[in-house]
Amino acid sequence: MNRHGILQVLVWVLLFEIVTTPRPAHSSDDFEVQKITDDVFALVGPLGDRTPENLSNNATYGVIVTSEGVVLIDSGGTYKGAQRIHETIKNLTEEPVKLVINTNGQDHRWLGNDYFRQQGAKIIAHRKTVEDQEARLDDQLIRLANTVGDSGMAGTSATHADEIFDEKRNLVIGDKTLELHPVGQAHTPSDVIVWLPKEKVMFSGDIVYTERMLSVRPYSNSGSWINAFETMAAFEPEHIVPGHGHVTTLEKARQDTYSYLRFLRDSVYEFMDAGGDIADIGNIDQSAFSYLNNYKFLKGRNAQQVCQELEWE
Ligand SMILES: [Zn+2]
Repeated sequence: MNRHGILQVLVWVLLFEIVTTPRPAHSSDDFEVQKITDDVFALVGPLGDRTPENLSNNATYGVIVTSEGVVLIDSGGTYKGAQRIHETIKNLTEEPVKLVINTNGQDHRWLGNDYFRQQGAKIIAHRKTVEDQEARLDDQLIRLANTVGDSGMAGTSATHADEIFDEKRNLVIGDKTLELHPVGQAHTPSDVIVWLPKEKVMFSGDIVYTERMLSVRPYSNSGSWINAFETMAAFEPEHIVPGHGHVTTLEKARQDTYSYLRFLRDSVYEFMDAGGDIADIGNIDQSAFSYLNNYKFLKGRNAQQVCQELEWE
C-alpha cells in the first residue's frame, strides 16, 4: 500500500471511531441526561446526600417533551436547583415547561415548584402528597439550611399544587398521554407513579431506587412499599426512570429495591422472632446489598426503622 492508501485507511478508521464510539449524553453541571425516546429524558442527579453544590437535586427527574410544552416530573430541591433543572431542559428543547408533577412530598420533589410556577407552569399533585408537603415543610427547610446552606436556599419558598387529584388521573397533553397512579404509602406517606402507556416508560419516583440503597424513614412504610412496587411492576415497563439512579429495567429495579425490601423485612422479623435485642439490630448481615451506594450509612438505620414498623404490625 502506498502512502496515500495508508492515509486513506487511517482517515476511515478515525471516522469509524468517531461515529461508533458512545459518548456521554450532554450534561449540565451535576445532571447526566439520559435520552429514552426522542421526546422522553431522565435527568440523573448525584446518588449521595444534599450538598451546596447539588442544591438538593440529589434525585432523578423526568422530562417529557410534548407538542404543547414540557412536562417535568418533580421540580428540584430548591429555587436555584429548579433553575438548574430548567437550564438542562433548555439544552433539550425550546418548548416551555407547562406542567410539573410532584411524585411525593420530599423536598427534592417539590421545593422547586415556586420557580416553575413563575415560568408559567401548572403544578399537579395528589391530595395526600400535598398534605405530606405541608406537614414536613418546617423539617425540610431546617434540614436544607444545614445541608445546602443559606446561599443554596436563596429564593426557595413553598408553593403547592394548582391542581389536586384523589384517584388515578389521565392527562392528554399535545401528542402525549400520561397516567398518574397513586400507589399509597411507600418511601413517603403518598407516592405517585407516572406511566406513559405508548412509550412503556415508567417514572416510578421513590418506589424504585437503583445503584444506591433505599432509605426507610419514620414516614415510610416498608410493607406497603412492597405492594406499591408490585403495582408498578404490573405495568411491565420497558424503561424505568427511578427516583434515584440511572434509567433502568424492571429486573434491576427488582434486585436493588424489591429484593432488598423483602430481605430486610424477613431478616428483621427473624431477628426479633429469635429474641434479638434491638440494640444489636444493626448487626444483621446485609452484605448481599453492600454493592449499593450509602450501604454503610443506611443499613443499620433501615433495620431499626423496619423493626419499629414490625412492632406495630
Ligand atoms: Zn428521594
